[in-house]
Amino acid sequence: MATPRETNPAPEMVSEGASLEELARAAETCMACELYREATQVVFGVGPKSAPMMLIGEQPGDAEDQEGEPFVGPAGSVLAEALEEAGIRAEDVYLTNVVKHFRWKAKGKRRLHQTPATRHVRACLPWLEAELALVGPQVLVCLGAIASQALLGRSFRVTKDRGKKLAWGDHTVVATIHPSAVLRATEPDDRERLRSSLVEDLVTAQRLIGKKRRE
Ligand code: SF4
Repeated sequence: MATPRETNPAPEMVSEGASLEELARAAETCMACELYREATQVVFGVGPKSAPMMLIGEQPGDAEDQEGEPFVGPAGSVLAEALEEAGIRAEDVYLTNVVKHFRWKAKGKRRLHQTPATRHVRACLPWLEAELALVGPQVLVCLGAIASQALLGRSFRVTKDRGKKLAWGDHTVVATIHPSAVLRATEPDDRERLRSSLVEDLVTAQRLIGKKRRE
């Protein structure tokens, strides 16, 4: 078994030519922030290495933490349906999060999601950068405020600038709502409006891939 790491080893692993599988294994031993202590396991990205689109969420939820895969819980179901409605094939998508361990607090027997802090995002970002270096997607889709602000800056507002073609370094980025926002909406009208926004922004991202292919 690899030695636990208190600094994020991702950058040096990429420069040494590590594969996605090797990165995922190394992330199991990451101790670059404290979130590994309370989480069940690391939840690394999944998807084909040649995926033209990378979807980036906030952090694994309760179901993802237990299963070890991103977007397998209720929000993942909303996302899967939105992708299908947008005409995006699962094999064209790499799914990941900016933070790879679940941050939570106990409430009775339940584990309640806690938003990762800036220090967690900073500590974990090298894993996302490593995934980007290896997958090389044509378009990144940031799902929700934490992923969007991790890439586009703290002042970025999803409500104001969702669905636009943006840039992060050399990467083309589209920001949209997190699918969990659809689940949190209590009124059917709000739920439908949010769901439609998500689909619409995924369609925008898909069109940008088409454009890049033609350039
Ligand atoms: S959240 Fe990220 S940086 Fe923190 S321990 Fe887990 S993998 Fe490492």
